[in-house]
Amino acid sequence: MNTLIYWFRNDLRLHDNPALTQAAAQAGSLLPVYCLGSASAVHNGEPRWGVMQPSLHRQRVLLDSLIDLDAQLRALGSALTVVDGPSADMLPKLARALDATAIHCETIAAPHEKSELDQLQQSGTQIVSRWQSTLHAPDALPFKAQDLPAVYTQFRRALARAITQPVAPLPIPSQLPPLPKTAHGYATVNLEDQLARLGGNSPEPRSSLPYLQAEFAGGERAALSHLARYFGGELPRQYKATRNGLTGTDFSSKLSAWLASGALSVRQVAQAIAQYEQRAGPNEGTEWLLLELLWRDYFRLLHLQYGAKLFRYRGLRDKVPPNHHDSAHFTRWCLGRTGEPLVDAAMHELLATGYLSNRLRQVVASYLIHDLGCDWRAGAAWFEAQLIDYDVYNNQGNWLYIAGMGTDPRGGRRFNVQKQALEHDPEQSYQRLWQTV
Ligand code: FAD
Repeated sequence: MNTLIYWFRNDLRLHDNPALTQAAAQAGSLLPVYCLGSASAVHNGEPRWGVMQPSLHRQRVLLDSLIDLDAQLRALGSALTVVDGPSADMLPKLARALDATAIHCETIAAPHEKSELDQLQQSGTQIVSRWQSTLHAPDALPFKAQDLPAVYTQFRRALARAITQPVAPLPIPSQLPPLPKTAHGYATVNLEDQLARLGGNSPEPRSSLPYLQAEFAGGERAALSHLARYFGGELPRQYKATRNGLTGTDFSSKLSAWLASGALSVRQVAQAIAQYEQRAGPNEGTEWLLLELLWRDYFRLLHLQYGAKLFRYRGLRDKVPPNHHDSAHFTRWCLGRTGEPLVDAAMHELLATGYLSNRLRQVVASYLIHDLGCDWRAGAAWFEAQLIDYDVYNNQGNWLYIAGMGTDPRGGRRFNVQKQALEHDPEQSYQRLWQTV
């Protein structure tokens, strides 16, 4: 019987998972695996920026997502095996123990994730990987992925001219191959124990994405319920008007943590938008939401084109700009002790909850880069450690954009903090709310 391994990466779901569907169709028996080792460190940091570990928030959301994935797999007669170690060590051992003929997984185009796959390939195991995290697949684009338009607006206009409908998402499979019979000889992680070891982080009533509440918890089932709830009401219509909000659960879709872990497929979101528009008519809110999902595609595709260049201090620029990184400034920024009230309030929220509105992410990133003169990659690494919706492509893409080291011809975005505070927090209620962590 042909045994295969399915390695879950940033695709912690059963619905619309073509790589998993393909593995299931080819396997006599299938072992679904997750390697915790990949998620236990910050991959894009440098020692001189200080030791960074994924926050309790990030770890908690991941464990919840894995527990949910395991439950979903068990409902189909399978189960998730979680191993604690780097994929390059653990997966070849598992493949040998099971006599598996191949490891299937999704493709991720960021340097660390790409090197994980390269190392696996060197182990001699056959790897079948598949790109599946964009709304529009690279081979469906009206240009080659290497010839991505340099400006986002050109990118989305070219897409709008060429593609009318995204491909529909695949449903949750009705069955999966059985687990291999000889699945012994390797240590596995008990997720509930791991969660208990993490310790209880107490609910934070001020949070805009309260992941400790069941409806915002990590995992596919909560993601699909949230999607149905969000598009079942009137919030999508108001999205364009409210998306620059700073606090509360309703000002934006709050889909990011699920999209980032892959508990939710972006094609599922696009389908929900299309169904909403059929019911409620086209409107500026859903139109704008779709544009944000295209930013998400754009930053993913940028990684296919430029890869590791996006992780250099100079990014895509020809010349290296002076780097005046100051670790004392950086530490004060991380802890919310800069003396700039809006920045400090935002950094307190990030520390306390692992989430921050898009507007405040822009303000604090701009402040670190353009006011404190720090290395933008240190800020990106801090976000990688803290965010419950950390997504390597979106994070790197946005930081590059604000630093002016990416494709944007305007050369960076500087936000005037006082002006932003007056415009978005005129009563200073947000600043009072997050005066302390
Ligand atoms: P909504 O406004 O409801 O948007 C819906 C979805 O569209 C989001 O879930 C996200 O998948 C996508 N999206 C929205 N804005 C952007 C954007 N600017 N770029 C790319 N995709 C976008 N987003 C992440 O998912 N992970 C990150 O690690 C991340 N790091 C960021 C770092 C900086 C410096 C900045 C300025 C932005 C970053 N973003 C990141 C983008 C954005 O802030 C979040 O996606 C958004 O705030 C999440 O909340 P939401 O789901 O309610 O977003």
